[in-house]
Amino acid sequence: MGDPMSADRRAPHYMQLPREVVVGDGSIREIAPMCDRLGLGDEILIVSGPRTYGLFGRPISALLGERGYSVRHAIIESAEASEVDRVKAIISREGIDLVLGVGGGKSIDIAKLSSAACGAHVISVPTAASHDGIASPYASIKGSERPYSVRAQAPIGIVADTEIIAKSPFRLLASGCGDSIAKYTAVRDWRLAHEVKGEYYGEYAANLALMSSKLVMARASSIARGEPDAIRTVVEALISCGVAMSIAGTTRPCSGSEHLFAHALELVAKDPGLHGERCGLGTIMMAKLHGLDWRRIRAVLGRIGCPTTASQLGVKGEEVVEALTIAHRIRPERFTILGERGLSRDEAKRLAEETGVI
Ligand SMILES: [Zn+2]
Repeated sequence: MGDPMSADRRAPHYMQLPREVVVGDGSIREIAPMCDRLGLGDEILIVSGPRTYGLFGRPISALLGERGYSVRHAIIESAEASEVDRVKAIISREGIDLVLGVGGGKSIDIAKLSSAACGAHVISVPTAASHDGIASPYASIKGSERPYSVRAQAPIGIVADTEIIAKSPFRLLASGCGDSIAKYTAVRDWRLAHEVKGEYYGEYAANLALMSSKLVMARASSIARGEPDAIRTVVEALISCGVAMSIAGTTRPCSGSEHLFAHALELVAKDPGLHGERCGLGTIMMAKLHGLDWRRIRAVLGRIGCPTTASQLGVKGEEVVEALTIAHRIRPERFTILGERGLSRDEAKRLAEETGVI
């Protein structure tokens, strides 16, 4: 029998990567010089939320205006498909060359999707480090038939100002840690799908994602203390996860059974908490199914200040059990440790109880 990976390795494989990444205090001032270097055109659209517009959109606009760029704004109210359509219309009508997504998640997702659909470029300017969408080619939209991320395009530039990110609510950073630690089980699920289903598996992308998870876990205490260097670790970990997805050409290295659970919980719970928080909870339980050290995952998440129980997340035990039983159906083509049949109600309840989640 030949190496099962050899056929994969010979087939053409497409990667779309960011060209410039700036991380550090005050890096917001690097946006205009980055635009100069990239030379993508003078017509710029800033996509941000109402609050981020006042705090960051306006000052960025002023910095760009000083250098001769013509800047317009789109203020985003929700992460719904209608908002993507509205931004697409602005891009086409105004002949926009470059879109800046400025904000936590919604604005960046909408900037990525609308620019990709219109053939414009996008620069990601995260103002919080709450999930790995800040650097990935994927985006998720509310109200779509697919509750998980869909392909958009990789940002051509990423500007992560750690001074701004450090001032965002700590809960957002803790959520970003949950999303990073999730790679611990996501990579195992990817490997399993390769072994069982012969799915493409990229060792480099897998290790890159896993490294992000390990670095965040190793620095849990410094992250909890809000040490600037540790915040930078989280930001870099999330950017590396985005790059891992770019290299893999799939969200596989970053999204496995723990993400299926997180998406399922978002569907069943009234107030499901943040994406990374749900992923963290999922990672504890999926690590147990994989026979990994789930107690360590739980301890690290707890040290950081991420929820490790349903009540800490603000969801009902019954909602966790329900989400566990439907998780395998969220994305049937994505084989994970949940298998094709998923968990029965009894198995789900036992798993949640044994890991102390409920
Ligand atoms: Zn995620």
